[in-house]
Amino acid sequence: MQAQRVWINRRSPVYTENHRRKWQEFYECGNCGCVWWAWSSDRPPSEFGDRQVPPRDDFPSSLDDLF
Ligand SMILES: [Zn+2]
Repeated sequence: MQAQRVWINRRSPVYTENHRRKWQEFYECGNCGCVWWAWSSDRPPSEFGDRQVPPRDDFPSSLDDLF
């Protein structure tokens, strides 16, 4: 599926067994508007290199208000 919008729930990080944080990311489908989510740590590593979290500019500034 191709996401047209992405949110990240920065207010609720989860600590993994490696003491690294991960976040829930929400995606909105570009076709029908359905929403799904995944852990930020589950993203393919090639997409953002070794960064844990993408740059904040990649997300709408109103994002945090949703949570
Ligand atoms: Zn859909």
